[in-house]
Amino acid sequence: MSKTMEKEEVKKLKEKLLLNRRNGYFQYSDEKVAKAESFCERYKEFMNLAKTEREVVNYAVKAAEKEGFVPFDPDRRYQAGDRVYYNNRGKAVVFSVIGKSGCKNGVRITAAHIDSPRLDLKPHPLYEKDDIAWLKTHYYGGIKKYQWTATPLSMHGHVVLKDGTQVDIRVGEEEGDPQFCVTDLLPHLSAEQMEKKISKAIEGENLNIMAGSWPVRADKGDDLVKLSIMRILYEKYGMTEEDFVSADIEFVPAFPACDIGFDRSMVGAYGHDDRVCAYDALMAVLRAENPENTILTVLADREEIGSDGNTGLNSQFMHYFIADLARSEGLEPQHVLRRSKCLSADVAVAYDPNYASVYEPTNSCYINNGIGIAKYTGARGKNGTSEASAEFVAEIRSVFEKNNVLWQIGELGKVDAGGGGTVAAFIASLDIDVLDVGVPVLSMHAPFEVVSKLDVYTTYQGFKAFYESK
Ligand code: MN
Ligand code: MN
Repeated sequence: MSKTMEKEEVKKLKEKLLLNRRNGYFQYSDEKVAKAESFCERYKEFMNLAKTEREVVNYAVKAAEKEGFVPFDPDRRYQAGDRVYYNNRGKAVVFSVIGKSGCKNGVRITAAHIDSPRLDLKPHPLYEKDDIAWLKTHYYGGIKKYQWTATPLSMHGHVVLKDGTQVDIRVGEEEGDPQFCVTDLLPHLSAEQMEKKISKAIEGENLNIMAGSWPVRADKGDDLVKLSIMRILYEKYGMTEEDFVSADIEFVPAFPACDIGFDRSMVGAYGHDDRVCAYDALMAVLRAENPENTILTVLADREEIGSDGNTGLNSQFMHYFIADLARSEGLEPQHVLRRSKCLSADVAVAYDPNYASVYEPTNSCYINNGIGIAKYTGARGKNGTSEASAEFVAEIRSVFEKNNVLWQIGELGKVDAGGGGTVAAFIASLDIDVLDVGVPVLSMHAPFEVVSKLDVYTTYQGFKAFYESK
């Protein structure tokens, strides 16, 4: 029979054997909290300036050029410390700092995505109905459609006119700009709508955006409101109705990022998923100095719709970039890929006590508790996940520990509650070790998402530590 333990002994044994899951705030000094706050001031500016994948690429390339990054030339031989970038069609971008050992021991990659759920315009969007001009949309990514009605929207687009002229459009973000919206039904007449399932209450085909309501002044004629709107677009952008067919036009929430809570401990904004990890990964590569191995920050497009398309990570653009680096050092690309390591940097699901039934509390990530690790994602019995090995989780965990980076590990909700994936599986298919890590988010994919300032800063520190590791 074993002897009864003293209180002090139990405490010591607990410290030795059990996880400490105290509120993460207590693990930060006041000084570190202040650093996280000032880091997030710049993060909010970024969120307001760069709301779409094209705007993020523009912002990131400008910031990188200021820090000495130049366009990558595959025919050049680079030296340790050289800083290059590859702009993939203005919608995805790779930044790299050449390491002291080059890429012979593999490269160190942080990959985040810069597309977020939104309303895209159809090729023939503009029509007039009952004296109002409307724009037809096709939503992009996983949205709850009811969240996109009765909320202010801004327009972000890139149009190629018939004569080849390229025009950028951004309406609804500056003080005094007009904004847009999708209407919703008044409660007084919603008896039938309120009986419907939430997924059917708002139909995708009804997500039509109001574009205007005053006609051109004329005695008679059809489509005079539509004509009046088209005249404004022509005067401002040189656009005719046909030019909508060669345009990428996205409508996103118009409100700016702001602090949340009396203590300002959180940031609310559109599209933290995944621009929060993208910003952290960008800052980590811009501030990297003389890494041992060549490092890459990859900002990818198309993740929200499965990473398909040539600016998404289910294409080979990152693979080819690494292959070019390898060849410039006289190495075989597959040998470099096999030794490479990657953090798939995408937001984690933060536990929400208002919806506790879908979470498993002992395997959830919590706000203020640091960078969230997911060993695997997927759905229905780990389908669609690459799952990191015990060895690779151990390696990253040790990098975080050595650098005082607060981390936690969790799953995407309860086993049978749903699920999802990230870019990790596509990178793993290149024979690269990958682990999912990221900032925990509340209200993910809603027009307004929430993150903790401490987690935003900690995740940046995690990426930096990974780049500085051997
Ligand atoms: Mn994401
Ligand atoms: Mn997402």
